[in-house]
Amino acid sequence: MVTIKNKETLFFQHLDFLPTPALIGREDKCNKRAKILFVNKAFINTIGYQVTDIPDHLSFISRAYPDINYRHEVINSWSSRISQLSRRKTSIIQLCSRVFCKDQQYRWFDIRTELKSTIDKGVVIVLFNNIDKAKMEALQYAKLSRTDPLTKLANRRYIQHVLQQETLHQPKDYQSFSLVMADIDFFKTINDRFGHSCGDYVIKTVAKIITQNTRKIDVVARWGGEEYLLLLPKTNTTEARIVVKKIMKHLHEYHFIWEGKRFNVTLTYGITQYRRAEETNETIKRADLCLYQGKEQGRDCIVTDGVLEVWGD
Ligand code: GH3
Ligand code: MG
Ligand code: MG
Repeated sequence: MVTIKNKETLFFQHLDFLPTPALIGREDKCNKRAKILFVNKAFINTIGYQVTDIPDHLSFISRAYPDINYRHEVINSWSSRISQLSRRKTSIIQLCSRVFCKDQQYRWFDIRTELKSTIDKGVVIVLFNNIDKAKMEALQYAKLSRTDPLTKLANRRYIQHVLQQETLHQPKDYQSFSLVMADIDFFKTINDRFGHSCGDYVIKTVAKIITQNTRKIDVVARWGGEEYLLLLPKTNTTEARIVVKKIMKHLHEYHFIWEGKRFNVTLTYGITQYRRAEETNETIKRADLCLYQGKEQGRDCIVTDGVLEVWGD
């Protein structure tokens, strides 16, 4: 006679042949924890946890998502998918997430389950399709597409995208950002005197000095050849000028060395602040105009909305 228990065991054995990691849980209405009944061999091989490591779904969640913020993000995504189910014909829910495995490695999985399970009341199978390789490649491509290969700064396309995003929502108390357009002075002379490779070294070093003197939330981009665009969120022009002066100071103190020869490099800076409801192209144009005025005034200086400040002021 095949008992229910035997049927379960037989079914679990079948899942061991499945190449996709899978776990089986059963809802427990009393304590709101779904008991984990079984994990298949592929689950143990890829994710690593045994049933004894994750006796219920909450212990799985805290192991798989140790970062509390990410854990909440995952839980919220599941909850919103579950609440959307009643409006859709399917009872399958799916989510991609990064799981912390027992070998201390993170891996990406396409996780799916059918909530109105036909196996047994309250029993759910969760499948973990390993998409780590494809996901890492996609993330790498996404990073490449927004990065300048020489300086590793954001590229022009990416900062334009960030600018669009930044201006999408402007609540009443919106603190607008400042833009700094900066350009290396007499860069052509550096190329002519020391060669193109030295020019590249200067572009890279200036990028590093700018990055070291800005905050994590600022976006520093290579706008063109030897031109940089800085997006400083929640910053007015007075604060932006302080940032630029810090960059200027470090640059003045920095000695560039190429093939034993020492030289200094200066930049000219144009600063402006975003004005509510304007097109971001207008803000960029204004920063560019300030930069142009600075070049006209003799370089190595800052022009903030038409107001000139030379180094040492
Ligand atoms: P100004 O002070 O007015 O800015 O003069 P400048 O000489 O810096 O400006 P100009 O626009 O005359 O010259 C910029 C030069 O930068 C011209 C171009 O050949 C060179 N350049 C552009 N991109 C790169 C690059 O990636 N590497 C190197 N080495 N040179 C570059
Ligand atoms: Mg230049
Ligand atoms: Mg230029």
